[in-house]
Amino acid sequence: SSDDEGGEEYLFKIVIIGDSAVGKSNLLSRYARNEFNPHSKATIGVEFQTQSLEIDGKEVKAQIWDTAGQERFRAVTSAYYRGAVGALIVYDITRTTTFESVGRWLDELQTHCDTTMAMMLVGNKCDMVDIRNVSTEEGKSLAESEGLFFMETSALDSTNVDTAFEMVIREIYNNVS
Ligand code: GDP
Ligand code: MG
Repeated sequence: SSDDEGGEEYLFKIVIIGDSAVGKSNLLSRYARNEFNPHSKATIGVEFQTQSLEIDGKEVKAQIWDTAGQERFRAVTSAYYRGAVGALIVYDITRTTTFESVGRWLDELQTHCDTTMAMMLVGNKCDMVDIRNVSTEEGKSLAESEGLFFMETSALDSTNVDTAFEMVIREIYNNVS
């Protein structure tokens, strides 16, 4: 859409998915508010956060959605995915089961989203190297075979958090502009 001055504005919906407790809510709070919560409970009431950035001199707003813990019950609704043009699929590098779930989350995306999506596979909690159970190579190779970007992040110490979100936002921008 464009405004009267001839400048353009973009609004992109991005969803964060992945198993319970992989750090989805903390990745979003780190990115949007630079906050981390060591005892976070399922977010109640907050559906999304909006972040603005400038690309090519244009204002780009990312509306980033977080589940309210529905993933615990495998009950993420189609409303959650509706209109999404980007996704972060998150697992926890210390828990193999969360990595094994990635395929199921990709199926969910395919079921609910029909447009071209910018997708990033995110191995979170990379600060916990001592109890790592999924290697960087495993993450990288899954991402390559599924055609996803890949990044290891830490919502705790901020490693790659901004980069992960911004790569997805820039890719969406490239897809639509
Ligand atoms: P969600 O269920 O996927 O939204 O996960 P949360 O964001 O609620 O995080 C689940 C737990 O993991 C919380 O205790 C967080 O403090 C913790 N956590 C989240 N991200 C990280 C991280 O990058 N490193 C570490 N060490 N803990 C994290
Ligand atoms: Mg959460």
